[in-house]
Amino acid sequence: MARVILLGLDGFPNRAVGAGLTPRLWKLGQEGGRAADGGVTDLPSSTDPGFCSLLTGCRPEKHGVRTTAWRFARLPQWAGAEIPRVPTIFEACRAAGLRTAAAVGDDRGLLCTDAADLRWPPDGVIPLGTALDAHGYPTNAAVLPHLLGAVRDARNQFVFGHLNEADTVGHDHGPQSDAARSCYAATDAAVGEILDAAADRWPDTVVVIVSDHDMQPRDASPPIDLMGGADHAPWDLVIPDGGAALVHLLPHTDPQAAGKRLEAIDGIESWSSAHQGPSEVAIVGAKPGRIFAAPGYPVGGFHGAPATARTLAIVGGGHPAVERIARSLARRRPHLADWAPTLAPLLGIDLPQADGMVLGDQRQPPP
Ligand SMILES: [Zn+2]
Repeated sequence: MARVILLGLDGFPNRAVGAGLTPRLWKLGQEGGRAADGGVTDLPSSTDPGFCSLLTGCRPEKHGVRTTAWRFARLPQWAGAEIPRVPTIFEACRAAGLRTAAAVGDDRGLLCTDAADLRWPPDGVIPLGTALDAHGYPTNAAVLPHLLGAVRDARNQFVFGHLNEADTVGHDHGPQSDAARSCYAATDAAVGEILDAAADRWPDTVVVIVSDHDMQPRDASPPIDLMGGADHAPWDLVIPDGGAALVHLLPHTDPQAAGKRLEAIDGIESWSSAHQGPSEVAIVGAKPGRIFAAPGYPVGGFHGAPATARTLAIVGGGHPAVERIARSLARRRPHLADWAPTLAPLLGIDLPQADGMVLGDQRQPPP
């Protein structure tokens, strides 16, 4: 059975990976595999929907977590679930008797990690004295020892780690800033320490490294305000999530007609229809550089839009399965929901509700 290490680097841009800036990520991808153009995620391309897809193997339509906006306010029912409606990979491991560990730079555990056998921060409570980044999340350096301990403990069959700093620095300084580039290099060094800690069981190990979304700078255009000025618009509520928004349609509205109205608004690039209980909801995505009107805006970079629905997608390790997963990454950009079903057979666990693809599965038709 494989030992699986899954790392999520929050807000880490795929384009930052290179031999000079991130030598460990680069080498892992060269020896294993990497989707050169990155993987994909759904809109809004934000943290909670992405990590819930990663850790359940389901798309937001099934796991129910549609937005990260409720970090700052309680969400109405039409905007989706506050925790995933389906079991996570941690629960599937527990059912199979496998021990798991999660060390995350996020006190809310990305909504998904509470079923891990070893969890840091313990019970989602950041211990007093922990070093925090500018947004109040534990620094990468604060998470790293817990992650290294989990990797070195041979009892852990599945280890999940989350490093947050690239997201914080990208929001505050912009994804192309010197501060962000320094952070990408430092994050790469932290990844290197984790890979070194995994070296003694390398032939049994599969390492997967992803990010949850990309990050982009804003242009000088005004924010897109869906509630201002649209006379007789067939919607009544909007939840902005950076470069995407959830739009609640009025009862008896034809979603296609509402979509056409939304698409005609300056700055909107895409829309799709979603059902949430009895409600019809449209998910709109903004053009590159554009953001939806919100109570506050990040100073530097932001995400949520189609332009940032791009993830890191790297596989490595000495386990024989790495080669076929690598071949799949070379052919097709993976979705975040593909990783859990790809890892499940390597761990000998069942994720019957997962709707992602098994990467490299010969029985599935080519794209
Ligand atoms: Zn994120």
